[in-house]
Amino acid sequence: MAYSNGINTRRLVLVVDDQEINRELLEMFLSDDYDLLFAENGQQAMELIRAHQDMLSIVLLDLMMPVMDGFQVLAAVHADEALRRIPIIVLTAERAAELRALQLGAADFITKPFDMHEIILARVARIIELSEGRTIIQAAERDELTGLYTGNFFFQYAERINRYHPDWDMDAVVLNIERFHLVNDLYGRDFGDRVLGLIGEAILDQTNGVGAIGGRMEADQFCVYIRHAESYQELLEALQSRLASISGNSRIRLRTGVCPRLEGIGDLQSQFDKAKIACNMLRGNFSRDVMYYDMEMHRKEVFSEGLVNDIHRAVEERQFQVYFQPKYGIQGPRPALRSAEALIRWKHPDHGMISPGAFIPLFEQNGLIQMVDEYVWAETARQIAAWKAEYGFTLPVSVNLSRVDVYDPALEEKLLGLVETNGLTTHELKLEVTESAYTDDPEQLVARVQHLRDLGFQIEMDDFGSGYSSLNMISTLPIDVLKMDMKFIQNVKKGNEKDFKLIELVLDIAEFLHVPVVAEGVETAEQCEMLRQAGCSLVQGYYFSRPIPPAEFARLIEKELNDMKLEG
Ligand code: C2E
Ligand code: CA
Ligand code: CA
Repeated sequence: MAYSNGINTRRLVLVVDDQEINRELLEMFLSDDYDLLFAENGQQAMELIRAHQDMLSIVLLDLMMPVMDGFQVLAAVHADEALRRIPIIVLTAERAAELRALQLGAADFITKPFDMHEIILARVARIIELSEGRTIIQAAERDELTGLYTGNFFFQYAERINRYHPDWDMDAVVLNIERFHLVNDLYGRDFGDRVLGLIGEAILDQTNGVGAIGGRMEADQFCVYIRHAESYQELLEALQSRLASISGNSRIRLRTGVCPRLEGIGDLQSQFDKAKIACNMLRGNFSRDVMYYDMEMHRKEVFSEGLVNDIHRAVEERQFQVYFQPKYGIQGPRPALRSAEALIRWKHPDHGMISPGAFIPLFEQNGLIQMVDEYVWAETARQIAAWKAEYGFTLPVSVNLSRVDVYDPALEEKLLGLVETNGLTTHELKLEVTESAYTDDPEQLVARVQHLRDLGFQIEMDDFGSGYSSLNMISTLPIDVLKMDMKFIQNVKKGNEKDFKLIELVLDIAEFLHVPVVAEGVETAEQCEMLRQAGCSLVQGYYFSRPIPPAEFARLIEKELNDMKLEG
Protein backbone atom coordinates (compact mmCIF):
# COMPACT_ATOMS: atom_id res chain seq x y z
CA MET A 1 0.00 0.00 0.00
CA ALA A 2 1.42 3.30 -1.10
CA TYR A 3 1.05 5.27 2.10
CA SER A 4 1.36 2.47 4.61
CA ASN A 5 1.86 4.04 7.98
CA GLY A 6 4.17 1.48 9.44
CA ILE A 7 1.66 0.57 12.14
CA ASN A 8 1.10 -3.15 12.38
CA THR A 9 -2.16 -3.63 14.21
CA ARG A 10 -5.24 -2.33 12.47
CA ARG A 11 -6.53 0.96 13.81
CA LEU A 12 -10.16 1.79 14.45
CA VAL A 13 -11.56 4.76 12.53
CA LEU A 14 -14.94 6.42 13.01
CA VAL A 15 -16.49 7.99 9.92
CA VAL A 16 -19.24 10.53 10.62
CA ASP A 17 -21.27 11.85 7.68
CA ASP A 18 -24.97 12.18 7.01
CA GLN A 19 -24.56 11.50 3.29
CA GLU A 20 -24.53 7.84 2.47
CA ILE A 21 -22.42 8.35 -0.65
CA ASN A 22 -19.65 9.93 1.40
CA ARG A 23 -19.68 7.12 3.94
CA GLU A 24 -19.48 4.62 1.09
CA LEU A 25 -16.61 6.40 -0.59
CA LEU A 26 -14.61 6.57 2.60
CA GLU A 27 -15.34 2.94 3.31
CA MET A 28 -13.99 2.08 -0.11
CA PHE A 29 -10.84 4.13 0.47
CA LEU A 30 -10.11 3.05 4.01
CA SER A 31 -11.41 -0.45 4.60
CA ASP A 32 -8.29 -2.18 3.30
CA ASP A 33 -6.20 -0.55 6.00
CA TYR A 34 -8.52 0.22 8.88
CA ASP A 35 -11.43 -1.13 10.90
CA LEU A 36 -14.33 1.25 10.50
CA LEU A 37 -17.30 2.50 12.48
CA PHE A 38 -19.98 4.73 10.97
CA ALA A 39 -22.30 7.40 12.31
CA GLU A 40 -24.88 9.55 10.49
CA ASN A 41 -25.01 12.48 12.85
CA GLY A 42 -23.24 14.07 15.79
CA GLN A 43 -25.31 12.37 18.44
CA GLN A 44 -24.58 8.88 17.14
CA ALA A 45 -20.96 9.92 16.78
CA MET A 46 -20.68 10.95 20.44
CA GLU A 47 -22.20 7.66 21.55
CA LEU A 48 -19.70 5.66 19.49
CA ILE A 49 -16.80 7.83 20.60
CA ARG A 50 -17.61 7.28 24.26
CA ALA A 51 -18.19 3.58 23.78
CA HIS A 52 -14.85 3.07 21.98
CA GLN A 53 -12.80 5.84 23.52
CA ASP A 54 -9.86 3.62 24.33
CA MET A 55 -9.76 1.92 20.95
CA LEU A 56 -10.52 4.77 18.60
CA SER A 57 -7.55 6.09 16.63
CA ILE A 58 -9.22 8.87 14.69
CA VAL A 59 -12.54 10.43 13.73
CA LEU A 60 -13.36 11.71 10.24
CA LEU A 61 -16.06 14.26 10.86
CA ASP A 62 -18.50 16.00 8.55
CA LEU A 63 -19.46 19.48 9.73
CA MET A 64 -22.96 19.99 8.33
CA MET A 65 -25.27 17.31 9.79
CA PRO A 66 -28.74 17.13 11.28
CA VAL A 67 -29.44 16.59 15.01
CA MET A 68 -25.97 17.56 16.19
CA ASP A 69 -23.48 19.13 13.80
CA GLY A 70 -19.73 18.64 13.55
CA PHE A 71 -18.83 21.81 15.42
CA GLN A 72 -20.78 20.59 18.42
CA VAL A 73 -18.98 17.25 18.26
CA LEU A 74 -15.63 19.02 18.11
CA ALA A 75 -16.55 21.17 21.09
CA ALA A 76 -17.81 18.21 23.10
CA VAL A 77 -14.72 16.11 22.40
CA HIS A 78 -12.44 19.01 23.16
CA ALA A 79 -14.19 19.71 26.46
CA ASP A 80 -13.82 16.12 27.66
CA GLU A 81 -10.48 15.26 29.24
CA ALA A 82 -10.81 11.59 28.34
CA LEU A 83 -11.68 12.17 24.69
CA ARG A 84 -9.42 15.06 23.85
CA ARG A 85 -6.54 12.85 22.74
CA ILE A 86 -8.58 11.42 19.83
CA PRO A 87 -7.65 13.36 16.70
CA ILE A 88 -10.39 14.59 14.41
CA ILE A 89 -10.08 15.25 10.70
CA VAL A 90 -12.82 17.49 9.42
CA LEU A 91 -14.53 16.75 6.10
CA THR A 92 -15.49 20.03 4.54
CA ALA A 93 -16.33 21.72 1.30
CA GLU A 94 -16.11 25.18 2.80
CA ARG A 95 -12.87 26.97 3.36
CA ALA A 96 -14.66 29.41 5.63
CA ALA A 97 -15.27 26.68 8.19
CA GLU A 98 -11.63 25.76 8.49
CA LEU A 99 -10.53 28.39 10.94
CA ARG A 100 -13.39 27.72 13.35
CA ALA A 101 -12.77 24.00 13.13
CA LEU A 102 -9.07 24.54 13.78
CA GLN A 103 -9.88 26.66 16.81
CA LEU A 104 -12.09 23.86 18.09
CA GLY A 105 -9.16 21.49 17.86
CA ALA A 106 -9.47 19.78 14.47
CA ALA A 107 -6.19 18.16 13.48
CA ASP A 108 -6.52 18.41 9.71
CA PHE A 109 -8.95 18.75 6.81
CA ILE A 110 -10.08 16.61 3.96
CA THR A 111 -11.81 18.61 1.27
CA LYS A 112 -15.02 17.66 -0.46
CA PRO A 113 -15.48 16.53 -3.10
CA PHE A 114 -12.89 14.05 -1.98
CA ASP A 115 -9.28 14.19 -3.00
CA MET A 116 -7.44 11.31 -4.55
CA HIS A 117 -7.80 8.43 -2.17
CA GLU A 118 -4.03 8.22 -1.68
CA ILE A 119 -4.08 11.70 -0.25
CA ILE A 120 -6.86 10.84 2.15
CA LEU A 121 -5.02 7.72 3.25
CA ALA A 122 -1.82 9.67 3.69
CA ARG A 123 -3.51 12.26 5.85
CA VAL A 124 -5.26 9.73 8.02
CA ALA A 125 -2.05 7.78 8.50
CA ARG A 126 -0.07 10.90 9.25
CA ILE A 127 -2.51 12.25 11.81
CA ILE A 128 -2.69 8.88 13.56
CA GLU A 129 1.08 8.77 13.68
CA LEU A 130 1.26 12.26 15.05
CA SER A 131 -1.35 11.64 17.70
CA GLU A 132 0.25 8.42 18.81
CA GLY A 133 3.61 9.75 18.95
CA ARG A 134 6.34 11.82 19.29
CA THR A 135 6.06 14.97 17.30
CA ILE A 136 2.87 16.89 17.62
CA ILE A 137 3.01 19.51 14.93
CA GLN A 138 -0.07 21.40 14.00
CA ALA A 139 0.35 21.23 10.26
CA ALA A 140 -2.19 23.33 8.50
CA GLU A 141 -2.66 23.11 4.78
CA ARG A 142 -2.80 26.84 4.29
CA ASP A 143 -0.61 29.51 5.70
CA GLU A 144 -2.70 31.82 7.84
CA LEU A 145 -0.95 35.00 6.87
CA THR A 146 -1.14 34.61 3.11
CA GLY A 147 -3.80 31.99 2.41
CA LEU A 148 -1.27 30.10 0.30
CA TYR A 149 -0.42 26.41 0.65
CA THR A 150 2.23 25.52 3.17
CA GLY A 151 5.37 23.48 2.41
CA ASN A 152 4.51 19.86 1.77
CA PHE A 153 0.93 20.54 0.85
CA PHE A 154 2.10 22.78 -1.94
CA PHE A 155 4.25 20.00 -3.32
CA GLN A 156 1.51 17.43 -2.94
CA TYR A 157 -0.83 19.55 -4.99
CA ALA A 158 1.82 20.30 -7.55
CA GLU A 159 2.41 16.56 -7.90
CA ARG A 160 -1.28 16.18 -8.39
CA ILE A 161 -1.24 18.65 -11.27
CA ASN A 162 1.54 16.60 -12.84
CA ARG A 163 -0.42 13.40 -12.42
CA TYR A 164 -3.68 14.70 -13.85
CA HIS A 165 -2.13 16.84 -16.57
CA PRO A 166 1.11 15.24 -17.62
CA ASP A 167 0.88 17.15 -20.90
CA TRP A 168 0.92 20.57 -19.25
CA ASP A 169 4.21 22.38 -19.55
CA MET A 170 4.74 23.67 -16.02
CA ASP A 171 7.19 26.29 -14.75
CA ALA A 172 8.53 26.36 -11.21
CA VAL A 173 8.67 29.96 -10.00
CA VAL A 174 10.31 31.10 -6.78
CA LEU A 175 9.80 34.63 -5.48
CA ASN A 176 11.80 36.29 -2.80
CA ILE A 177 11.91 39.75 -1.24
CA GLU A 178 15.27 41.45 -1.43
CA ARG A 179 16.50 41.93 2.12
CA PHE A 180 13.20 41.19 3.78
CA HIS A 181 14.81 41.28 7.22
CA LEU A 182 15.53 44.96 6.56
CA VAL A 183 11.89 45.60 5.72
CA ASN A 184 11.03 44.07 9.09
CA ASP A 185 13.72 46.00 10.91
CA LEU A 186 12.93 49.34 9.33
CA TYR A 187 9.14 49.30 9.32
CA GLY A 188 8.25 46.71 11.95
CA ARG A 189 6.96 43.17 11.83
CA ASP A 190 3.36 44.20 11.32
CA PHE A 191 4.29 45.99 8.16
CA GLY A 192 6.37 42.99 7.08
CA ASP A 193 3.35 40.77 7.65
CA ARG A 194 1.20 43.07 5.56
CA VAL A 195 3.73 42.88 2.74
CA LEU A 196 3.63 39.09 2.87
CA GLY A 197 -0.16 39.12 3.02
CA LEU A 198 -0.39 41.32 -0.07
CA ILE A 199 1.97 39.13 -2.02
CA GLY A 200 -0.13 36.14 -0.96
CA GLU A 201 -3.30 37.85 -2.20
CA ALA A 202 -1.74 38.78 -5.51
CA ILE A 203 -0.44 35.27 -6.04
CA LEU A 204 -3.85 33.83 -5.23
CA ASP A 205 -5.44 36.20 -7.77
CA GLN A 206 -2.95 35.31 -10.45
CA THR A 207 -3.12 31.55 -9.91
CA ASN A 208 -6.84 31.21 -9.45
CA GLY A 209 -8.62 29.27 -12.16
CA VAL A 210 -5.64 28.96 -14.50
CA GLY A 211 -4.39 25.57 -13.36
CA ALA A 212 -1.72 27.05 -11.12
CA ILE A 213 -1.04 27.00 -7.41
CA GLY A 214 0.86 29.19 -4.98
CA GLY A 215 2.64 28.38 -1.75
CA ARG A 216 4.63 30.09 0.95
CA MET A 217 7.67 28.18 2.04
CA GLU A 218 9.76 29.92 4.64
CA ALA A 219 9.56 33.53 5.77
CA ASP A 220 9.61 35.53 2.55
CA GLN A 221 9.89 32.74 0.05
CA PHE A 222 6.99 32.05 -2.27
CA CYS A 223 6.53 29.29 -4.80
CA VAL A 224 4.24 29.24 -7.80
CA TYR A 225 3.63 26.24 -10.02
CA ILE A 226 2.13 27.55 -13.21
CA ARG A 227 1.72 26.75 -16.88
CA HIS A 228 4.68 27.91 -18.88
CA ALA A 229 4.58 31.55 -19.90
CA GLU A 230 6.88 33.42 -22.25
CA SER A 231 7.11 36.26 -19.78
CA TYR A 232 6.29 36.83 -16.13
CA GLN A 233 6.02 40.57 -16.58
CA GLU A 234 2.30 40.65 -15.96
CA LEU A 235 2.50 38.58 -12.82
CA LEU A 236 5.32 40.71 -11.49
CA GLU A 237 3.60 43.97 -12.31
CA ALA A 238 0.50 42.79 -10.50
CA LEU A 239 2.63 42.00 -7.48
CA GLN A 240 4.63 45.21 -7.60
CA SER A 241 1.62 47.45 -8.00
CA ARG A 242 -0.03 45.85 -5.01
CA LEU A 243 3.12 46.38 -2.99
CA ALA A 244 3.38 49.98 -4.17
CA SER A 245 -0.03 50.61 -2.62
CA ILE A 246 1.40 50.24 0.87
CA SER A 247 5.08 50.90 0.52
CA GLY A 248 5.05 54.33 -1.12
CA ASN A 249 8.55 55.40 -2.06
CA SER A 250 10.37 52.64 -0.29
CA ARG A 251 10.32 50.29 -3.20
CA ILE A 252 10.18 46.72 -2.01
CA ARG A 253 11.96 44.62 -4.52
CA LEU A 254 10.91 41.13 -5.52
CA ARG A 255 13.37 38.71 -7.06
CA THR A 256 12.00 35.98 -9.27
CA GLY A 257 13.65 32.75 -10.36
CA VAL A 258 12.02 30.55 -12.98
CA CYS A 259 12.86 26.98 -13.87
CA PRO A 260 10.97 25.55 -16.82
CA ARG A 261 10.65 21.84 -17.37
CA LEU A 262 14.04 20.92 -18.75
CA GLU A 263 15.55 17.67 -19.85
CA GLY A 264 17.42 15.95 -17.03
CA ILE A 265 16.41 18.43 -14.35
CA GLY A 266 14.95 15.74 -12.09
CA ASP A 267 11.78 15.72 -10.05
CA LEU A 268 9.46 18.51 -9.00
CA GLN A 269 11.44 19.29 -5.87
CA SER A 270 14.61 19.78 -7.83
CA GLN A 271 12.80 21.90 -10.40
CA PHE A 272 12.01 24.24 -7.52
CA ASP A 273 15.55 23.98 -6.16
CA LYS A 274 16.81 25.22 -9.52
CA ALA A 275 14.30 28.05 -9.60
CA LYS A 276 15.62 29.03 -6.18
CA ILE A 277 19.20 28.93 -7.43
CA ALA A 278 18.21 31.24 -10.28
CA CYS A 279 16.41 33.50 -7.83
CA ASN A 280 19.44 33.68 -5.54
CA MET A 281 21.62 34.74 -8.43
CA LEU A 282 19.68 37.98 -8.46
CA ARG A 283 20.74 38.85 -4.94
CA GLY A 284 22.19 42.33 -5.09
CA ASN A 285 21.77 42.48 -8.87
CA PHE A 286 19.48 45.43 -9.42
CA SER A 287 19.57 45.44 -13.18
CA ARG A 288 17.06 42.62 -13.55
CA ASP A 289 14.19 41.08 -11.64
CA VAL A 290 13.76 37.69 -13.28
CA MET A 291 16.35 34.99 -13.82
CA TYR A 292 15.71 31.83 -15.81
CA TYR A 293 17.42 28.60 -15.01
CA ASP A 294 18.67 27.23 -18.31
CA MET A 295 20.61 24.30 -19.71
CA GLU A 296 23.85 26.25 -19.52
CA MET A 297 23.46 26.71 -15.76
CA HIS A 298 22.49 23.10 -15.49
CA ARG A 299 25.62 21.97 -17.29
CA LYS A 300 27.76 24.14 -15.03
CA GLU A 301 26.09 22.75 -11.95
CA VAL A 302 26.52 19.19 -13.10
CA PHE A 303 30.16 19.92 -13.93
CA SER A 304 30.77 21.44 -10.49
CA GLU A 305 29.04 18.57 -8.74
CA GLY A 306 31.21 16.20 -10.71
CA LEU A 307 34.36 18.00 -9.62
CA VAL A 308 33.31 17.87 -5.99
CA ASN A 309 32.76 14.13 -6.32
CA ASP A 310 36.10 13.63 -8.03
CA ILE A 311 38.31 15.42 -5.57
CA HIS A 312 39.18 12.54 -3.25
CA ARG A 313 40.20 10.35 -6.10
CA ALA A 314 42.15 13.23 -7.59
CA VAL A 315 44.22 13.52 -4.44
CA GLU A 316 44.76 9.76 -4.23
CA GLU A 317 45.74 9.47 -7.87
CA ARG A 318 47.86 12.61 -7.76
CA GLN A 319 45.90 14.33 -10.50
CA PHE A 320 46.74 17.60 -8.81
CA GLN A 321 50.10 19.03 -9.74
CA VAL A 322 51.95 21.99 -8.40
CA TYR A 323 53.39 24.42 -10.93
CA PHE A 324 55.81 27.19 -10.11
CA GLN A 325 55.96 30.72 -11.43
CA PRO A 326 59.16 32.74 -10.85
CA LYS A 327 59.36 36.18 -9.30
CA TYR A 328 62.25 38.24 -10.63
CA GLY A 329 64.01 41.15 -8.98
CA ILE A 330 64.21 43.96 -11.56
CA GLN A 331 66.24 46.67 -9.83
CA GLY A 332 69.68 45.10 -10.35
CA PRO A 333 71.86 45.17 -13.49
CA ARG A 334 69.89 42.19 -14.84
CA PRO A 335 66.65 40.52 -13.80
CA ALA A 336 67.44 38.00 -11.06
CA LEU A 337 65.40 34.99 -9.94
CA ARG A 338 64.40 35.62 -6.34
CA SER A 339 61.52 33.40 -5.44
CA ALA A 340 58.48 31.63 -6.83
CA GLU A 341 54.78 31.10 -6.30
CA ALA A 342 53.26 27.63 -6.15
CA LEU A 343 50.06 27.36 -8.22
CA ILE A 344 47.90 24.30 -8.42
CA ARG A 345 46.92 22.53 -11.63
CA TRP A 346 44.38 19.75 -12.04
CA LYS A 347 44.94 17.22 -14.78
CA HIS A 348 41.50 15.71 -14.83
CA PRO A 349 41.16 12.33 -16.55
CA ASP A 350 37.96 13.38 -18.38
CA HIS A 351 38.17 17.16 -18.64
CA GLY A 352 41.88 17.64 -19.26
CA MET A 353 43.64 20.55 -17.61
CA ILE A 354 41.27 22.54 -15.41
CA SER A 355 42.34 25.98 -14.31
CA PRO A 356 42.17 26.82 -10.61
CA GLY A 357 39.73 29.61 -11.41
CA ALA A 358 37.17 26.88 -12.19
CA PHE A 359 37.54 24.83 -9.02
CA ILE A 360 39.13 26.94 -6.28
CA PRO A 361 36.04 29.13 -5.71
CA LEU A 362 33.89 26.00 -5.74
CA PHE A 363 36.02 24.25 -3.13
CA GLU A 364 36.15 27.40 -1.03
CA GLN A 365 32.39 27.16 -0.68
CA ASN A 366 32.35 23.66 0.73
CA GLY A 367 35.58 23.52 2.70
CA LEU A 368 37.29 21.05 0.35
CA ILE A 369 39.82 23.76 -0.37
CA GLN A 370 41.72 22.89 2.78
CA MET A 371 42.49 19.46 1.48
CA VAL A 372 43.72 20.94 -1.79
CA ASP A 373 45.80 23.60 -0.08
CA GLU A 374 47.45 21.18 2.29
CA TYR A 375 48.37 19.03 -0.66
CA VAL A 376 49.98 22.02 -2.38
CA TRP A 377 51.82 23.09 0.77
CA ALA A 378 53.21 19.60 1.28
CA GLU A 379 54.33 19.29 -2.33
CA THR A 380 55.87 22.74 -2.20
CA ALA A 381 57.78 22.14 1.03
CA ARG A 382 59.09 18.89 -0.41
CA GLN A 383 60.15 20.66 -3.59
CA ILE A 384 61.92 23.51 -1.79
CA ALA A 385 63.91 20.94 0.19
CA ALA A 386 64.75 18.95 -2.95
CA TRP A 387 66.07 22.04 -4.78
CA LYS A 388 67.95 23.10 -1.68
CA ALA A 389 69.66 19.72 -1.53
CA GLU A 390 70.40 19.73 -5.24
CA TYR A 391 71.63 23.29 -5.74
CA GLY A 392 72.93 24.16 -2.31
CA PHE A 393 70.84 27.28 -1.85
CA THR A 394 67.24 28.03 -1.04
CA LEU A 395 64.76 29.47 -3.44
CA PRO A 396 61.88 30.57 -1.21
CA VAL A 397 58.45 29.69 -2.56
CA SER A 398 55.12 31.15 -1.55
CA VAL A 399 51.92 29.16 -1.24
CA ASN A 400 48.38 30.51 -1.26
CA LEU A 401 46.26 30.47 1.88
CA SER A 402 42.50 30.47 1.52
CA ARG A 403 40.14 32.20 3.85
CA VAL A 404 39.20 28.91 5.54
CA ASP A 405 42.87 28.12 6.19
CA VAL A 406 43.35 31.41 7.95
CA TYR A 407 40.62 30.56 10.44
CA ASP A 408 41.80 26.99 10.97
CA PRO A 409 43.02 26.68 14.56
CA ALA A 410 45.51 24.01 13.49
CA LEU A 411 47.12 26.17 10.78
CA GLU A 412 50.40 26.89 12.62
CA GLU A 413 50.77 23.27 13.64
CA LYS A 414 50.27 22.07 10.06
CA LEU A 415 52.73 24.55 8.56
CA LEU A 416 55.37 23.99 11.24
CA GLY A 417 54.97 20.25 10.76
CA LEU A 418 55.72 20.56 7.05
CA VAL A 419 58.69 22.82 7.62
CA GLU A 420 60.14 20.42 10.16
CA THR A 421 59.51 17.23 8.18
CA ASN A 422 61.40 18.68 5.23
CA GLY A 423 64.24 20.11 7.27
CA LEU A 424 63.41 23.71 6.34
CA THR A 425 63.16 26.92 8.31
CA THR A 426 60.03 29.05 8.35
CA HIS A 427 61.81 31.67 6.21
CA GLU A 428 61.87 29.35 3.27
CA LEU A 429 58.13 28.88 2.90
CA LYS A 430 56.22 32.12 2.29
CA LEU A 431 52.49 32.60 2.63
CA GLU A 432 50.16 34.60 0.38
CA VAL A 433 46.95 35.91 1.89
CA THR A 434 44.50 37.73 -0.32
CA GLU A 435 43.60 41.29 0.58
CA SER A 436 39.89 40.59 0.72
CA ALA A 437 40.47 38.13 3.57
CA TYR A 438 41.81 41.04 5.60
CA THR A 439 38.67 43.06 5.08
CA ASP A 440 36.40 40.22 6.26
CA ASP A 441 37.46 40.23 9.86
CA PRO A 442 40.48 42.49 10.16
CA GLU A 443 41.13 42.04 13.86
CA GLN A 444 41.15 38.29 13.92
CA LEU A 445 43.14 38.11 10.73
CA VAL A 446 45.74 40.60 11.81
CA ALA A 447 46.28 38.68 15.05
CA ARG A 448 46.65 35.46 13.14
CA VAL A 449 49.05 36.83 10.59
CA GLN A 450 51.11 38.46 13.32
CA HIS A 451 51.45 35.11 15.02
CA LEU A 452 52.63 33.46 11.80
CA ARG A 453 55.21 36.19 11.38
CA ASP A 454 56.40 35.70 14.94
CA LEU A 455 57.07 32.10 13.96
CA GLY A 456 59.22 33.34 11.08
CA PHE A 457 56.89 32.96 8.10
CA GLN A 458 56.82 35.84 5.66
CA ILE A 459 53.43 37.10 4.59
CA GLU A 460 52.66 38.46 1.15
CA MET A 461 49.45 40.37 0.76
CA ASP A 462 47.94 39.06 -2.47
CA ASP A 463 45.76 40.91 -4.97
CA PHE A 464 46.41 44.22 -3.25
CA GLY A 465 44.16 46.95 -4.56
CA SER A 466 41.31 44.66 -5.52
CA GLY A 467 39.69 44.77 -2.10
CA TYR A 468 38.60 47.63 0.05
CA SER A 469 41.33 48.10 2.62
CA SER A 470 41.18 51.44 4.28
CA LEU A 471 44.42 53.37 4.46
CA ASN A 472 43.97 53.37 8.16
CA MET A 473 43.94 49.59 8.26
CA ILE A 474 46.84 49.19 5.88
CA SER A 475 49.12 51.21 8.13
CA THR A 476 48.77 48.66 10.92
CA LEU A 477 49.09 45.55 8.79
CA PRO A 478 51.68 42.96 9.65
CA ILE A 479 52.93 42.09 6.16
CA ASP A 480 56.26 41.58 4.43
CA VAL A 481 55.39 42.02 0.76
CA LEU A 482 52.62 43.72 -1.21
CA LYS A 483 51.49 41.91 -4.34
CA MET A 484 49.88 44.48 -6.56
CA ASP A 485 46.76 43.13 -8.23
CA MET A 486 47.27 42.46 -11.93
CA LYS A 487 44.45 44.77 -12.95
CA PHE A 488 46.77 47.72 -12.35
CA ILE A 489 49.25 46.59 -14.98
CA GLN A 490 46.66 45.40 -17.40
CA ASN A 491 44.81 48.71 -17.32
CA VAL A 492 47.92 50.65 -18.22
CA LYS A 493 48.01 48.83 -21.54
CA LYS A 494 45.26 51.15 -22.60
CA GLY A 495 47.72 53.97 -22.16
CA ASN A 496 45.91 55.91 -19.50
CA GLU A 497 47.93 58.39 -17.43
CA LYS A 498 45.62 57.99 -14.44
CA ASP A 499 46.22 54.25 -14.34
CA PHE A 500 49.93 54.83 -14.14
CA LYS A 501 49.32 57.20 -11.22
CA LEU A 502 47.50 54.38 -9.43
CA ILE A 503 50.56 52.18 -9.76
CA GLU A 504 52.69 54.92 -8.29
CA LEU A 505 50.20 55.23 -5.47
CA VAL A 506 50.53 51.53 -4.64
CA LEU A 507 54.29 51.86 -4.71
CA ASP A 508 54.08 54.86 -2.36
CA ILE A 509 51.93 52.91 0.06
CA ALA A 510 54.48 50.08 0.04
CA GLU A 511 57.30 52.53 0.66
CA PHE A 512 55.42 53.96 3.58
CA LEU A 513 55.06 50.42 4.95
CA HIS A 514 58.71 49.65 4.17
CA VAL A 515 57.82 46.56 2.16
CA PRO A 516 58.71 45.58 -1.41
CA VAL A 517 56.09 45.30 -4.15
CA VAL A 518 55.60 42.34 -6.48
CA ALA A 519 53.81 43.38 -9.65
CA GLU A 520 51.71 40.52 -11.01
CA GLY A 521 50.53 39.93 -14.55
CA VAL A 522 53.49 41.54 -16.28
CA GLU A 523 53.45 40.38 -19.88
CA THR A 524 55.66 42.74 -21.89
CA ALA A 525 59.12 44.31 -21.80
CA GLU A 526 57.56 47.81 -21.77
CA GLN A 527 55.49 47.02 -18.71
CA CYS A 528 58.54 45.64 -16.98
CA GLU A 529 60.65 48.67 -17.83
CA MET A 530 57.95 51.05 -16.73
CA LEU A 531 57.74 49.28 -13.37
CA ARG A 532 61.50 49.30 -12.97
CA GLN A 533 61.62 53.05 -13.51
CA ALA A 534 58.78 53.56 -11.08
CA GLY A 535 60.79 51.72 -8.43
CA CYS A 536 58.96 48.39 -8.23
CA SER A 537 61.26 45.66 -6.88
CA LEU A 538 59.79 42.39 -8.12
CA VAL A 539 57.85 41.17 -11.11
CA GLN A 540 55.84 38.01 -11.71
CA GLY A 541 54.25 37.37 -15.08
CA TYR A 542 54.23 35.73 -18.47
CA TYR A 543 56.97 38.12 -19.57
CA PHE A 544 59.43 36.06 -17.56
CA SER A 545 57.56 32.79 -17.43
CA ARG A 546 54.19 31.17 -17.12
CA PRO A 547 53.65 28.84 -14.18
CA ILE A 548 55.63 25.70 -15.15
CA PRO A 549 56.19 22.18 -13.81
CA PRO A 550 59.09 21.67 -11.38
CA ALA A 551 61.38 19.95 -13.89
CA GLU A 552 61.11 22.94 -16.20
CA PHE A 553 61.51 25.34 -13.32
CA ALA A 554 64.79 23.64 -12.38
CA ARG A 555 66.24 25.01 -15.61
CA LEU A 556 65.47 28.56 -14.50
CA ILE A 557 67.35 27.86 -11.28
CA GLU A 558 70.29 26.44 -13.21
CA LYS A 559 70.36 29.43 -15.52
CA GLU A 560 70.33 31.76 -12.54
CA LEU A 561 73.24 29.87 -10.92
CA ASN A 562 75.10 30.07 -14.17
CA ASP A 563 74.57 33.84 -14.52
CA MET A 564 75.74 34.32 -10.97
CA LYS A 565 78.86 32.32 -11.68
CA LEU A 566 79.62 34.37 -14.79
CA GLU A 567 79.35 37.54 -12.75
CA GLY A 568 81.82 35.99 -10.31
P1 C2E B 1 46.70 34.38 -7.80
O1 C2E B 1 47.14 33.89 -6.46
O2 C2E B 1 46.53 35.85 -7.93
O3 C2E B 1 47.75 33.81 -8.83
C1 C2E B 1 48.18 34.51 -9.95
C2 C2E B 1 47.42 34.08 -11.18
O4 C2E B 1 47.81 34.91 -12.27
C3 C2E B 1 47.76 32.66 -11.65
O5 C2E B 1 46.59 32.12 -12.23
C4 C2E B 1 48.79 32.91 -12.74
O6 C2E B 1 48.88 31.86 -13.67
C5 C2E B 1 48.24 34.16 -13.37
N1 C2E B 1 49.26 34.90 -14.07
C6 C2E B 1 50.56 35.00 -13.77
N2 C2E B 1 51.18 35.82 -14.64
C7 C2E B 1 50.25 36.27 -15.50
C8 C2E B 1 50.29 37.15 -16.65
O7 C2E B 1 51.30 37.69 -17.03
N3 C2E B 1 49.12 37.37 -17.29
C9 C2E B 1 47.97 36.78 -16.89
N4 C2E B 1 46.85 37.05 -17.57
N5 C2E B 1 47.90 35.95 -15.83
C10 C2E B 1 49.04 35.69 -15.15
P2 C2E B 1 46.11 30.67 -11.92
O8 C2E B 1 47.28 29.76 -11.74
O9 C2E B 1 45.08 30.34 -12.94
O10 C2E B 1 45.44 30.83 -10.50
C11 C2E B 1 44.31 31.60 -10.33
C12 C2E B 1 44.02 31.81 -8.88
O11 C2E B 1 43.67 30.57 -8.26
C13 C2E B 1 45.22 32.31 -8.08
O12 C2E B 1 45.33 33.70 -8.22
C14 C2E B 1 44.82 31.91 -6.69
O13 C2E B 1 43.91 32.82 -6.15
C15 C2E B 1 44.11 30.60 -6.94
N6 C2E B 1 45.03 29.49 -6.65
C16 C2E B 1 45.94 28.89 -7.46
N7 C2E B 1 46.58 27.90 -6.81
C17 C2E B 1 46.06 27.88 -5.56
C18 C2E B 1 46.28 27.07 -4.39
O14 C2E B 1 47.12 26.16 -4.34
N8 C2E B 1 45.53 27.34 -3.27
C19 C2E B 1 44.60 28.36 -3.27
N9 C2E B 1 43.91 28.56 -2.16
N10 C2E B 1 44.37 29.11 -4.33
C20 C2E B 1 45.09 28.88 -5.46
CA1 CA C 1 48.75 34.23 -5.09
CA1 CA D 1 47.44 37.60 -7.04
